[in-house]
Amino acid sequence: MSVTVRFAPSPTGNIHIGNVRTALFNWLYALKHEGRFVLRFDDTDTARSRQEYADQIAADLTWLGVHPHRIEYQSKRAAAHDAAAEKLKQAGLLYPCYETAEELDRRRKIRLSRKLPPVYGREALKLTDEDRAALEAEGRRPHWRFLLPNFADTPFETQRTGVQWDDVVRGPQTVDLASMSDPVLIREDGTYLYTLPSVVDDIDMGVTHVIRGDDHVTNTGAQIALFRALGAVAPEFGHHNLLTTTTGEGLSKRSGALSIKALNDDGFEPMAVASLAVLIGTSVAVSAMPSLEVMAQSFDPAATSKSAAKFDPSELDVLNRQIVHDLSYEAVADRLRAAGVDADDARAEAFWLAVRGNLDRVAQAADWWSIVTRGPATDAVLEGEDLDYARAAFDLLPDGDVSSASWSEWTSAVKSATGRKGRALFMPLRIALTGRSSGPEIADLLPLLGREGILARRP
Ligand code: GLU
Repeated sequence: MSVTVRFAPSPTGNIHIGNVRTALFNWLYALKHEGRFVLRFDDTDTARSRQEYADQIAADLTWLGVHPHRIEYQSKRAAAHDAAAEKLKQAGLLYPCYETAEELDRRRKIRLSRKLPPVYGREALKLTDEDRAALEAEGRRPHWRFLLPNFADTPFETQRTGVQWDDVVRGPQTVDLASMSDPVLIREDGTYLYTLPSVVDDIDMGVTHVIRGDDHVTNTGAQIALFRALGAVAPEFGHHNLLTTTTGEGLSKRSGALSIKALNDDGFEPMAVASLAVLIGTSVAVSAMPSLEVMAQSFDPAATSKSAAKFDPSELDVLNRQIVHDLSYEAVADRLRAAGVDADDARAEAFWLAVRGNLDRVAQAADWWSIVTRGPATDAVLEGEDLDYARAAFDLLPDGDVSSASWSEWTSAVKSATGRKGRALFMPLRIALTGRSSGPEIADLLPLLGREGILARRP
């Protein structure tokens, strides 16, 4: 069977690492099975959905390396949703209800006091045509509920009805349809809740696998019933655990600091974000993966834990460093140029290889470029004996061209002449040359500075 997955965000804000976990689970699943990936904007909530968010989500996915085969907007598919709703109404499976929220709440409390499950008692099914006409004459508009197939003879006597599926992530699952209320599919104002459009679109778009967060497990029971009511075979389902903050709160599109856009703006590497988004909360150790293609080869959704996983942004820093330290010059040349490094300079590649091991972010290379090409920083200064020592040491720079061997020749000469060794020997030189007390190997920096550049830094 060819695989088609979909990622179905609501474009009501910028997506965060938790949303991207869902997108990547789907993308990796599609890559692994040579399937297709549909990006579907669930934008039926017209009050909150915005095109700019949809555009940002598409840009975030591109940045991560997720390239949808097809992009759809649910808001453009109203005719299909209406046709499905009509089909259900004709079959008596979508029925009008007129209760207000207060009425429903009162009934729920009564049921609870009678030790009955607080589900909707289908009272609206008892309304006659006259009752409905009278309610509508009062100005009431119906909302519409889907009649769950959880009864034998009469809908007023439900019976345990287990809907089962073999979850791609969680293994065998059962949801009892008698434990839930008939879901509202259409609101009073005629707009659809998410359930029906999602099922209709999954059918029409040939979705074979619905992979999403485990907050949808219960929905899946009703949705499988809905697929069947519409004459379709339900797809496979997979529900991954959700990510929370380090203090256990759910991630929200409103917590902008953790949005993918913010992480991108902050200079994180997409593979650092992707590696953590996928591997956190699984039995696979979190490490920096080289590419989504490599990740896909060993991707096993069943290795995902069932409990929520805490997302710690500091782990992202660790992964980012690992990735930056291995990036080739070709991979970063454009970004270095954008950050202010003169990529046409003959030293640019050697420079990158010298500094990358000291960077948290690629753009930090610009500071080192300035130190190498313009002059030392002023983060650390030489004083007293160290200043005198450094002056004397500069006079001992070996003659001739500066190469990667120069540092060891220079320090040997300095050691014999001054008796200094270790940190006392090299730190004043490092500070004189770079204006910093830590950084790339001096041996690698010297050839970049050249003889004149070095001597110009004699304190
Ligand atoms: N728009 C829904 C959400 O963001 C999609 C859920 C699903 O994947 O079915 O929760």
